[in-house]
Amino acid sequence: MINYDAILEEIYHEVKPLVGEGHIADYIPELARISPQKFGMAVQTIDGEIFQVGDAAEKFSIQSISKVFTLTMAMQLEGDGLWQRIGREPSGTAFNSLVQLEYENGIPRNPFINAGALVVADIILSHLGDARQSVLDFMHRLCSETDIDFDHAVAHSERETGFRNAALANFLKSFGNLDNDPETVLDAYFHHCSLSMSCIEVARAGIYLANGGKLLGNGERIVRANQAKYINSLMLTCGTYDSVGDFAYRVGLPGKSGVGGGILAVMPQEFSICTWSPGLNDSGNSLAGTKALELFTTLTGISIF
Ligand code: GLN
Repeated sequence: MINYDAILEEIYHEVKPLVGEGHIADYIPELARISPQKFGMAVQTIDGEIFQVGDAAEKFSIQSISKVFTLTMAMQLEGDGLWQRIGREPSGTAFNSLVQLEYENGIPRNPFINAGALVVADIILSHLGDARQSVLDFMHRLCSETDIDFDHAVAHSERETGFRNAALANFLKSFGNLDNDPETVLDAYFHHCSLSMSCIEVARAGIYLANGGKLLGNGERIVRANQAKYINSLMLTCGTYDSVGDFAYRVGLPGKSGVGGGILAVMPQEFSICTWSPGLNDSGNSLAGTKALELFTTLTGISIF
């Protein structure tokens, strides 16, 4: 078993000058209230160990990291039928781009851009009726704890200002790619994005992706091993928007970012890892978090490549 404590301390020291750089996602007003000086990192190994540094126990808005978990649910519910309605290619455009959706006839490029996640939310709604509580129950199951909730102020803030997401939902509906009404889908989506979790919780929640689709401890199966592979592949190719190439080059792990400043990354058969620092680069990925992950794979020599 590897002890990552010293490496995490070294990374913490090295990224400190970057913490506070970049911009906060202030297009969601409630997120603008977070201090840009935060930095946390947690590693969950498949042996059941947790290593952490900095603000790793502080809850933050996981935003688009939730797209990994809602996709997992949609795969459980819909199987391959999902891919009739969503593509599996990197978008090469911003996560909330409208133009691509129009010229591709309402089929989102992948499940990790906003349009794709809206279709995923629609699928959950159609199957389970309640796309809020069912996602919360799923997160509780993944983390073996019930202390995870939506941040209703963030969900409300996004609802008040989410005009682009509303446009995307209406576009999808006009192309026949939403079964439920756009308002209901948006409400579910905004709540999924507002999930409030710490680095430790996110890393723990993502461990099934490193562990062949199974939870630690009781070994409960969340998805089949090949589905865990599919999700990791999508994270690698689509998880960090239009800087996915730069992220893969530097970090060498499947990763999924959120505009709250969190990133979940996965090393199959080894660990899941989460970083959090709110300052974002131009593509909406945490600046210090990306650097920390790059340092982690460089210093440990562990990456998928
Ligand atoms: N809730 C955010 C939005 O819809 C999620 C975007 C993100 O984290 N990249 O804009």
